[in-house]
Amino acid sequence: MAEVESFQLDHTKVLAPYVRLIGTETGPQGDVISNFDVRFVQPNADSIGMAALHTIEHSMASLIRDRIDGMIDFSPFGCQTGFHMIMWGEHTSEKLAKVILSALTELASPEFTWDDVPGVAEKECGNYKNHSLFGAQEWAKKIIAEGLSSDAFTRKVV
Ligand SMILES: [Zn+2]
Repeated sequence: MAEVESFQLDHTKVLAPYVRLIGTETGPQGDVISNFDVRFVQPNADSIGMAALHTIEHSMASLIRDRIDGMIDFSPFGCQTGFHMIMWGEHTSEKLAKVILSALTELASPEFTWDDVPGVAEKECGNYKNHSLFGAQEWAKKIIAEGLSSDAFTRKVV
């Protein structure tokens, strides 16, 4: 069995919310991608409901791309405590934490409405009925209030 870095992480030692660089990989042409653990919720203490998680996923797909170039993917963990963020090139967790915090702040604002959530029509999404902007905004407010750290083990709130 291949060793998977995410399963080597001691989930009992981390202090969410945080952004953590999992690692970088270099492809055969020399292109570098970096993979981040964007942990919004303390593992095994709570989890984001599927509808809110789904709306956070859709919203962040555009809110992050509005703020930084090179995002390949921002997709939820099956444990529903956060997201994988995959980027072209190398980036610091501090820089990405600031970008994500800014995106969450827009998501949480009352000016951000259902019309701003992309891809939620039946032909655009695989489970378009399972969304909650209310839940997404409540979680965004909670994460902002707790502070997003650029370190998984020591609180370094950006
Ligand atoms: Zn969807």
